[in-house]
Amino acid sequence: MHTVPARKSFMSKITSVKAIPMSDPVPLERQHRNDLGTKVKSDATLIVVETDDGLRGLGASLGNPEVVAALVEFDLGPSVLGENPLFSELIWEKMYNGSRWKPALERGNSQPQDGRRGVTVEAISGVDLAVWDVKAQILGVPIYQALGAVRDNVRGYGSGGWAPGDEAEAEMAGYAAKGFDAVKMRVVGGDGFSFKNAETRIAAARRGIGPDVELMLDAHGAFAVSTAIKLAKMMEKYDVAWFEEPISPDDHAGLGYVRRATTTPIATGEREFTRFDFQSLFDNQACDIAQPDIARAGGYTEIRRISALASARGVRVAPHAWGMGVLFAASIHVAMSTPNCHILEVSQGYMPMMNELFNEDYDVRPDGRVYAPTAPGLGFTLRDDALERFKYVPGPEYVF
Ligand SMILES: [Mg+2]
Repeated sequence: MHTVPARKSFMSKITSVKAIPMSDPVPLERQHRNDLGTKVKSDATLIVVETDDGLRGLGASLGNPEVVAALVEFDLGPSVLGENPLFSELIWEKMYNGSRWKPALERGNSQPQDGRRGVTVEAISGVDLAVWDVKAQILGVPIYQALGAVRDNVRGYGSGGWAPGDEAEAEMAGYAAKGFDAVKMRVVGGDGFSFKNAETRIAAARRGIGPDVELMLDAHGAFAVSTAIKLAKMMEKYDVAWFEEPISPDDHAGLGYVRRATTTPIATGEREFTRFDFQSLFDNQACDIAQPDIARAGGYTEIRRISALASARGVRVAPHAWGMGVLFAASIHVAMSTPNCHILEVSQGYMPMMNELFNEDYDVRPDGRVYAPTAPGLGFTLRDDALERFKYVPGPEYVF
């Protein structure tokens, strides 16, 4: 019988999983205040997976870096050692189901224990990203092609918008001038919240960008249902393309009320974990656009499942991408491999750990479109000074 000889690397084994806490301090003059407080730094955890044949994959995690590092060192890492990165689904199930991964796979139903949400899933996400980087390198293609490519470029949207009052006009016009045909601003700017001021800022933004650029609003989950409905109705006359996280992510039924009360599309998902949270959102008919974060929802493996669920409900996907270069790069691969992804977030905030982490530049063209990298794997390599420059600083990211 004819057999095709396996390439050596098709039998790679994972020999090390490391978690490196990182911080990106915001200098005093660049610190801005919003409803979350004053941002003094961004944190992330770099995850590095290495194999016995010399491959190295990069992932990253959100969540408290010290907790993520402990989870990776003592819990997730040991369960992944010795596994073949091509068995990415197995590795995910091992991390998620813990000690019961064998019966879970044998019987075909999930059997997680305590770590079903929160920092554990953030750490799982980071390891999954690094595993897929190695897997794609083994296959010799960019990650999005290993996932199954659907496109090699996607619409980007300029995401920021903190300017107070009428200054929103110039700020959002500035994003549009970069070529973006969609831009996002915060409902609460640096000057705090009142309904009147929210409308002043939205009207200013619409003046700044004209009628043809899409305008999105993000509320960080800060409002009560009744206030959110009032805001969403007001947004209708400014043709807002989506109202993001109007209320707490812990109230999917409430978000369903908001959605049914308005024609403004509702987006949410950056603080949801796994397909089970998204299934609940969809069961509550709570959103038009799902925004899973690659470093929180469960990595590539789980975002594929979430996107499929969303597609069946007629929900589009717009990956949440913030804070760290590995996560923006990973989100590019998600956008290029997700048929129902229509747009990708491109941060306009002060974020060197996103924009100055790699030797390679992101390919964001003057028409606001983001192009896929072409090298195998993630397609981006860390600058030599990255670990020193973004050394971890303990303490909170926001202060009130
Ligand atoms: Mg958001």
